[in-house]
Amino acid sequence: MRATIIHGAGDVRVETVPDPKILEPTDAVVRVVSACICGSDLWPYQSMPASEQGARIGHEFLGVIEDTGSGVEGFKPGDLVVAPFVWSDGTCDFCLQGLQTSCRHGGMWARDGVDGGQGEAVRVPQAAGTLVKLPVGEDSALLASLLSLSDVFPTGYHCARTAGVNPRTTVTVIGDGAVGLSAVLSAKRLGAERIILMGRHTDRTDLGVEFGATEVVTERGAEGVERVRELTGGDGTHTVLECVGLIEAIETAFGVVGDGGTVSRVGAPQYDQVPMDFGVFMRNVTLTGGVAPARAYIPELLPDVLEGRIKPGKVFDQTVALDDVAAGYEAMADRTALKVLVRP
Ligand SMILES: [Zn+2]
Repeated sequence: MRATIIHGAGDVRVETVPDPKILEPTDAVVRVVSACICGSDLWPYQSMPASEQGARIGHEFLGVIEDTGSGVEGFKPGDLVVAPFVWSDGTCDFCLQGLQTSCRHGGMWARDGVDGGQGEAVRVPQAAGTLVKLPVGEDSALLASLLSLSDVFPTGYHCARTAGVNPRTTVTVIGDGAVGLSAVLSAKRLGAERIILMGRHTDRTDLGVEFGATEVVTERGAEGVERVRELTGGDGTHTVLECVGLIEAIETAFGVVGDGGTVSRVGAPQYDQVPMDFGVFMRNVTLTGGVAPARAYIPELLPDVLEGRIKPGKVFDQTVALDDVAAGYEAMADRTALKVLVRP
């Protein structure tokens, strides 16, 4: 089959790799119907040292089951399924508490002999715990929104949930990327009435407003903090959803959060220190967030998508064929695309 291989910064190719097959009784083989490129795929795309052998990539996909191992119950060939960005058994203590990202028998796509999502097919380990069946056909008009359940939308949702967003909280969302916009949609879904979106790409913040943002702040850094403070009577907001991952963004987050408030951060952080200094301590600010257990949220979010109450798939603004995946990376890296959907 054909699959995406990253050979280094700026060097993404589609190559022939071995066809996936059942190796363990708990495996399934899924033919990929749609996949996508994640903002976190851009980190290796921008920095990976050149490698002759390269590495598989991609962790967001939905597709049709082609084969199942003898131990996979509840799924059969022909089922349309979505895969969260981490695979998990669904039965260990962490999985049972909804923290599938810490699964004792789970792992990541595109490493340790497991296929990546940006290819024609994937061997899915722990298929019964990992996959979620979708009650629609592969020609469904909802496919983009259903694909968003694999990572981007649950990641934004995790940010809002861990921050404790509810109808009584004011919210600042930092970042107008696909995760930031998903966080806006999530905050709205959780009942927030005031959602300030910090971002400066008008086409993206326009979608943020459609998703529920009530105000847009285009300034960044100290000016952005000042603007949010102005808008909130000097107090800042109860919750801040940091969806960028850069040190400047987390600094802004502590600047705009109100006393007693909560900062949540999602998306692979590109910093190893958080500025929780004495001043932040004196203001009783909580820091939360982390990697999103997407598998835990899919059953909760799926009905809203199926019934058309929310359309998180609007974050996809470009579609490429698998053979053109390199163009998709380029478009996301130079920000001409918000999020790229890949069709094998
Ligand atoms: Zn588990």
